[in-house]
Amino acid sequence: MSLLRRVHQLTRLDSRKILHKTLCVEAPSRSMSEHVISEPPVHSQPPSSGAFRFIDVGVNLTDPVFRGKYRGKKRHEDDMDAMMRRAESAGVASQIITGTSLSESREAAELAKRYGHYFTIGCHPTRVAEFTAFKGGPGAYLAALDTLVASNLKGKGRVVAIGECGLDYDRLHFASEELQRKYFKAQLALAKKYHLPLFLHSRAAHTDFVEILREEGFSQDGGKAVGGKGGVVHSFTGTPDEARELMEMGFHLSINGCGLKTEDNLKAAQAIRLDRLLLETDAPWCSMTGGHASRQHLTSLPSTLREIYFPPSSRGPDNFIAGKAVKGRNEPCAIGGVAWVMHQLHPESDFGDLVSRAFTNTCELFELDENAETSI
Ligand SMILES: [Zn+2]
Repeated sequence: MSLLRRVHQLTRLDSRKILHKTLCVEAPSRSMSEHVISEPPVHSQPPSSGAFRFIDVGVNLTDPVFRGKYRGKKRHEDDMDAMMRRAESAGVASQIITGTSLSESREAAELAKRYGHYFTIGCHPTRVAEFTAFKGGPGAYLAALDTLVASNLKGKGRVVAIGECGLDYDRLHFASEELQRKYFKAQLALAKKYHLPLFLHSRAAHTDFVEILREEGFSQDGGKAVGGKGGVVHSFTGTPDEARELMEMGFHLSINGCGLKTEDNLKAAQAIRLDRLLLETDAPWCSMTGGHASRQHLTSLPSTLREIYFPPSSRGPDNFIAGKAVKGRNEPCAIGGVAWVMHQLHPESDFGDLVSRAFTNTCELFELDENAETSI
């Protein structure tokens, strides 16, 4: 089939068909689902806008830039609500807000409840010095994470994973290898205790990362034998062999713009099986930019989708225009661009299939309530 014909077909895909193919259905109260199932009113978003539905599994909404604050300096008004509306218009049905420390996990809990999304609880490898600096010591820090998990297990806005945790040997100035390994292990215990999936980070540390997971019982089926529920290695930027090893252990891999930066990244992204693929933006980080290898695969993105995944932006924080995205600050609406590049790298699957498989994988891994057939 010619590319042009395929693109033409894609932009005319029936949204009902997509919904039927997708296992997970948002709660009826969400405005996006209403948007998808009703006839598009005049002056609405393009008809394709709600047809492809996403769950962004990695968003750092606790970052002050979404409140207009950059490196401690207020540069524009809080535009979190407008950013959330852009995400909904782009088909982002749910988001998993990343907790990167005790205090940010608490903040993520509040945001998840306010917006009806989900969140994670954990301590990022570059933040593990907080364990030792904590009043009461490392045991008290872990106990505080534990309490936060225990009190957020139910309902919309609940915790769905332990993390972000793992190893980051690119940034040892924040915490030594030894410290990172110690508190990575400590957090694996929480995943076993609460039977929650892991939200994992691994940078320049694959050998140690995998060794610790294996030692702690996560060598197969995502740690089922020790009470684990698998998990996702987020922002995956490893090699094809590393991808295969993690998938064999029972883990999922999620991709964002950082994992599509170089030709080597693209090869690794190609090695990810579609039954193990999740999608994320890692907003406000990991935008896809013109110099990245992903660019060649974005030229075929239909303009109706380009408008909603990459909406017009102001030139930067100091030129902020209310209602517009901010150049250089990634947002969840861009997840469709990530999905498009992954679809180009997996030509065996059409765009709608890839998107709905990632959606279903996400619901299954994190046991999201939306996991039910629609009755439309
Ligand atoms: Zn990370």
